[in-house]
Amino acid sequence: MIARDLESILEQVQNIAKGVVADNANDVDRQARWPEEAIRMLQKAGIAGLTVPAEYGGLGHGSFAVAQVCELLGQECGSTAMCFGMHCVGSAVLSAKATSDQQERFLHPIVAGEHLTTLSLSEAGTGSHFYIPSTQLDAISPQAYRINGTKTFVTNGNYADSYVVSTVAAGPDGPLGEFSCIVVPATSEGLEWGPPWSGMGMRGNSSRSLTLDNVEIERNNLLGEEGDQIWYVFQVVAPIFLMAMTGTYLGIASAALEEARVHLLKRQYKESGSGLSQVPVVQHRLGCLWGMLERTRRLCYHAAASFDAGEPDALPAVFTAKAEVADCAVAIVNEVMTLSGGQAYRDESRLHRLLRDARAAHVMAPTTDVLRTWTGRVLLGLPILGE
Ligand SMILES: Cc1cc2nc3c(=O)[nH]c(=O)nc-3n(C[C@H](O)[C@H](O)[C@H](O)COP(=O)(O)OP(=O)(O)OC[C@H]3O[C@@H](n4cnc5c(N)ncnc54)[C@H](O)[C@@H]3O)c2cc1C
Repeated sequence: MIARDLESILEQVQNIAKGVVADNANDVDRQARWPEEAIRMLQKAGIAGLTVPAEYGGLGHGSFAVAQVCELLGQECGSTAMCFGMHCVGSAVLSAKATSDQQERFLHPIVAGEHLTTLSLSEAGTGSHFYIPSTQLDAISPQAYRINGTKTFVTNGNYADSYVVSTVAAGPDGPLGEFSCIVVPATSEGLEWGPPWSGMGMRGNSSRSLTLDNVEIERNNLLGEEGDQIWYVFQVVAPIFLMAMTGTYLGIASAALEEARVHLLKRQYKESGSGLSQVPVVQHRLGCLWGMLERTRRLCYHAAASFDAGEPDALPAVFTAKAEVADCAVAIVNEVMTLSGGQAYRDESRLHRLLRDARAAHVMAPTTDVLRTWTGRVLLGLPILGE
């Protein structure tokens, strides 16, 4: 089966972004509320199966499409882009080795827009080293596991229908970093949500903590084999997740650049009758920002396309793309704040939100520091994870 063409998907996403996403962006930020209207609209439009393979009825796209969709959404609302991006990552992890039962129970409803999922890897104890979970997965019968542990920063927390949760492999002697992922339905007994998310930025994410207290899950919900998730990390999570983030922060950076352009054209001085856009150094600074954004965008889309094409050296480019976009988004929003003067410093300025949202780029794992290190290790021929 052939994936639906990306151009028409992006046209639909653009309409949704300029409509319901833009209309609700301020409110989502101010109220720190999950972007319900936008996510439901994306599901209704048939885009929720973006990363589900066409053979299971999905749109069959990879990291390139995820980045583009998230960029369009991120131009209007970072939280909406991140919430939808996390669903795409969760869907991709679910799809990678889905059994026919998992296709039936999870992928078909995702494609139908009736099931939202998300990834729940982070824990307080291991922080940005998300590939070393300590959540326990114990086999209690031939049909069931029991899960115990606490997850942090679960985006879409308490709104998703299922959570792709990382755990220590059930075997007690497995090496460090060898972990398993299992799908935990939202209706499971024993899920306790922490307080509502109240972030500095990305305030609509609902990135809450989740305690799994003796949660019993059928063995059929295990994704792949016990302990094989390092394969998922570098083959599925890294490209799709990093490109969801990359797209989101490209969107934030390009929204900031547009704010600057509009402001420079609008700002007129009474005494001279001339405008800010006529000041050569300001024109020069705007040109530099455009260059920074465009070279980062090209690197990101090139990295995504290389990965989707199966090129063997794509991974360091994918790692670097997210690190570069984090540097780029934070730098551009900061510089646009300066170019836009006191107007931008007002509490209700859009840049206020963009600045806070952009800051999350560096700390969402894999963090900028970790990605730079991983890239260096690849170049040195060292294993990506390790001493
Ligand atoms: C808005 C938001 C949404 C999130 N959504 C999700 C989600 O949906 N699912 C999920 O699983 N997690 C999510 N997270 C969690 C995120 O991915 C990280 O796990 C979390 O932010 C790590 O925080 P920490 O304070 O434990 O960082 P720490 O691990 O304490 O790191 C602090 C700093 O030290 C640096 N550092 C740490 N180790 C190294 C190293 N080995 N080399 C170089 N530098 C290092 C890091 O780069 C970082 O800058 C989210 C986080 C945020 C802020």
